[in-house]
Amino acid sequence: MNKTIQVKDKTFAVSIPEERIMAEVRRVAAEINRDYAGQNPIFLAVLNGSFIFAADLLREVTLPCEISFVRLASYEGMGSTGEIREIMGLSVDVTGRPVIIVEDIVDTGLTMAHMLETLKRHNPGSIDICTLLLKPGKLQVNLDIRYCAMQIPNDFIVGYGLDYDGFGRNTKDIYTLCS
Ligand code: 5GP
Repeated sequence: MNKTIQVKDKTFAVSIPEERIMAEVRRVAAEINRDYAGQNPIFLAVLNGSFIFAADLLREVTLPCEISFVRLASYEGMGSTGEIREIMGLSVDVTGRPVIIVEDIVDTGLTMAHMLETLKRHNPGSIDICTLLLKPGKLQVNLDIRYCAMQIPNDFIVGYGLDYDGFGRNTKDIYTLCS
């Protein structure tokens, strides 16, 4: 039986151990180092969920690069169907620059689709998506995801930056909700 943790009223079991996560993060960073050789990309890490992934990824990136942390703001709350209005905290000028979006998880893909739309208004030179996790079974939009550390089933997960109702972000492993 996998190790379990309690987050508020729910029980989660380890589904991706730390060693696997770190191996995949290193693999993705090596791909970025290779593909962006000779360039100075700006990483845009989408808060809150990507903070741990971004920290680990960036320490494996050997390119001269910048990182900025952004949040997505919406009219009424935000979720899979929320309409995103603006990228908050985009303090760097991305005009003409190669941008790599760092996201924790792409589920329906609607959040990322809106993010791309909004970011394009700032005229970056190029945009690539780098996500820690992807649920291919949930994707509703056509997204070109260049860097993906791991694909997972349609279950709800926590840990390594991802939360359940604000809790559970501070684990080294990733956990899946027990049914
Ligand atoms: P999308 O717009 O792709 O459906 O949703 C993306 C957002 O939903 C993610 O940035 C994340 O905040 C949240 N999300 C989707 N699936 C999960 C999950 O399994 N666990 C957690 N903690 N958040 C998720």
